[in-house]
Amino acid sequence: MPIATTNPATGQVLKSYEPMSAEQIDAAIERADLAYRDLYRTTVAQRAQWMNAAADLLDAERDETARLMTTEMGKTYAAAKAEVTKCATACRFYAGHAERMLADEPADAAAVKAKRAFVRYQPIGPVLAVMPWNFPLWQVMRFAAPALMAGNTGLLKHASNVPQTALYLEDVFRRAGFPEGAFTTLLVGSDAVDRVLSDPRVRAATLTGSEGAGRSIAQIAGRELKKTVLELGGSDPFVVMPSADLDRAAEVATTARCQNNGQSCIAAKRFIVHTDVFDAFAGKFAAHMAALRVGDPMDADTDVGPLASESGRDEIHAQVQDAVDHGATVLCGGEKPTGDGWFYPPTVVTDLNPQMRMWAEEVFGPVAGLYRVSSYEEAIEVANGTPFGLGANAWTTDPAEQERFATDLDAGNVFVNGMTTSYPELPFGGVKNSGYGRELSALGMREFCNTKTVWVG
Ligand code: NDP
Repeated sequence: MPIATTNPATGQVLKSYEPMSAEQIDAAIERADLAYRDLYRTTVAQRAQWMNAAADLLDAERDETARLMTTEMGKTYAAAKAEVTKCATACRFYAGHAERMLADEPADAAAVKAKRAFVRYQPIGPVLAVMPWNFPLWQVMRFAAPALMAGNTGLLKHASNVPQTALYLEDVFRRAGFPEGAFTTLLVGSDAVDRVLSDPRVRAATLTGSEGAGRSIAQIAGRELKKTVLELGGSDPFVVMPSADLDRAAEVATTARCQNNGQSCIAAKRFIVHTDVFDAFAGKFAAHMAALRVGDPMDADTDVGPLASESGRDEIHAQVQDAVDHGATVLCGGEKPTGDGWFYPPTVVTDLNPQMRMWAEEVFGPVAGLYRVSSYEEAIEVANGTPFGLGANAWTTDPAEQERFATDLDAGNVFVNGMTTSYPELPFGGVKNSGYGRELSALGMREFCNTKTVWVG
């Protein structure tokens, strides 16, 4: 993939970059390694001061940064502004909580025949972050804020279609005061990942992206004996039971499916509805979906902008076509627009069966599949019946059923009567082919720490 900014609303290439040479990559890794030695010796309070400065820069530069993101990948300007603010909040969260998260944890010294015993959390060195375009600032920040606060340094290989956002991230941390090399953007294609991760100075990797990229990075990391955190795709279920508030569920379902133009790993994608309320829910949901305004992502009235790439749009349209060819019914949308830009209408498809690609594949665009079930057990079977396990939603006002869903849904995140989202306060990650490891909270910070046992006799 060329490293370039291409506006998805017009299809125009606006700026292209040459990939970095092997020598430039080597020099960047060297700077990251040297910066690690510097950062290692700084206090948490000093890092917190820089991290708060990064938050202030993000807030001050919110509108222009948001415009850049919208130009590079098509999310609405309003959503892009909210993303910048969320990043500033995460920086402040880690600046404020790192001291506590990294503090020594005393253990029962007598039980281990020591005078003193404790756990100490220490940084491990440069970490490679391979990141996607869909939340081009947030996906990076939720790695970078805890990693830098822990004293690690970051090497970012961002998606090839968001190079300017990638360069902005490096610039923000530099201007906030972090040492030269503490956070570096590598303008490289995915073919350079093996070289970077194989370098002995690079100690670990984190990836948010597709299953294929996850397998490839895990293979390299396995060969090199390096730690990885993988946050891969999802085909999140959204289960609606008879006791649910249907009006609210249909509204949230629409947002959950179409946020970020339908391109979110934790977007609800499969809507599994109890037969008693199926028709009522389907009617409300399809009406909300059909009412969304598709158009210029810079326009304040637009709900859904273009997909990030032409190939992404072709893929979801092929998935819809395949469902139709196998007998599915389209309740709204489903037509590929002509004209410039990679737009796709919010679409609801029902009468699905396991022969269809949509049944188990992730659909990365504003297309919802409706599944009819007749019991709690069947709902769980369909909900868990994919190779993924990232997020899951359940809608029910029955407390006993809420408890059962919390236990039975096979996912890294379960949200009851609400939309799956990520908070700095809560761990985030998946099970099965959605990956492993956790981001955010103290757990996310400690993924890239040496959890050191210290025993003093
Ligand atoms: P990719 O996995 O292709 O891209 C994500 C990142 O991984 C990019 O930086 C990409 O670089 C890099 N990459 C791709 N292939 C490899 C590889 N073999 N080795 C090392 N790095 C690699 O995602 P796409 O953009 O193609 O999106 C397609 C699918 O990815 C979606 O359908 C969805 O399943 C998943 N996805 C999940 C996201 C999430 O939030 N979990 C976010 C975005 C996508 P480059 O851009 O240079 O190819």
